[in-house]
Amino acid sequence: MIIFTHPACLAHDPGPEHPERPARLEVVLEALRRDHGDLDWREAPTAKLGDLRRVHSQAHVDAVMEQDFAGYRMLDPDTVMCPDSRAAALRAAGAAVAAVDAVMDGQDPIAFCAVRPPGHHATGEAAMGFCLLNNIAVGAAHACDKHRLERVAVVDFDVHHGNGTQAIFFQDPRVAYFSSHESGLFPYTGAPSERGAGNVMNALLPPGSGSFNFRNLWEDQMLPAIEAFRPQLLMISAGFDAHMRDPLADIMLETEDFAWLTRRLRQIATSHASGRIVSLLEGGYDLEALRECSAAHVAELR
Ligand SMILES: [Zn+2]
Repeated sequence: MIIFTHPACLAHDPGPEHPERPARLEVVLEALRRDHGDLDWREAPTAKLGDLRRVHSQAHVDAVMEQDFAGYRMLDPDTVMCPDSRAAALRAAGAAVAAVDAVMDGQDPIAFCAVRPPGHHATGEAAMGFCLLNNIAVGAAHACDKHRLERVAVVDFDVHHGNGTQAIFFQDPRVAYFSSHESGLFPYTGAPSERGAGNVMNALLPPGSGSFNFRNLWEDQMLPAIEAFRPQLLMISAGFDAHMRDPLADIMLETEDFAWLTRRLRQIATSHASGRIVSLLEGGYDLEALRECSAAHVAELR
């Protein structure tokens, strides 16, 4: 298993009191180095313009590349850049591309990208919800174009709906998007009626759902749908903010639930995708939960 990360991802500073803070990645790296220091650790490269342009407009790329400012620059009420954010965003998206290449080239079937800023709220045209570039979408589009894949599954267990990922692939049946998320929560999209070209599956979990309802939903509805899609590559938007300790959400999962779902996804990847998995860090705002869950996720993948 390969871990992609880069120190530049620690320098993205959206300002004091912002939940998407550098300490998030610090605790993830600390936990992974402690438990999984023997894995194949690699520096994430910067994404190339052509990689970004598969999913983002030139105007949006230009907005993220803008470096000629001091202090903070707000792209939306939640999404803030500092002068170092551009480099972090390029490494995060570049990690996704490099991870897809490594997995598809047979260097290792599984890669995890320990990066920030997260990506799944960024649309083709705009930054949103702490996300600058849609890292997983950049990776999935690269897998389709460069590696000629016809079926890439993007599985998103972050507690928020990945509206950006869904919008980018809404009419692109090469990529199927599967997400469970808390109802009534930002970004307020992701109704089950949003089906795209039949390649989108959304499921809502009410606040307080807990482990039992979460596991039933995945076991009865989501996992069979992923199996039926027969992905050639399985990509994961690994957000850990559905954990009971998280301050931004109330689905109330436990660390073991993330390990369980990771295990089940790995079984599907083994059956259909020659074991190929590329997982990317998304949300998770309680440092203790993030530390535990990311280590448990990687422990199931290695
Ligand atoms: Zn989230």
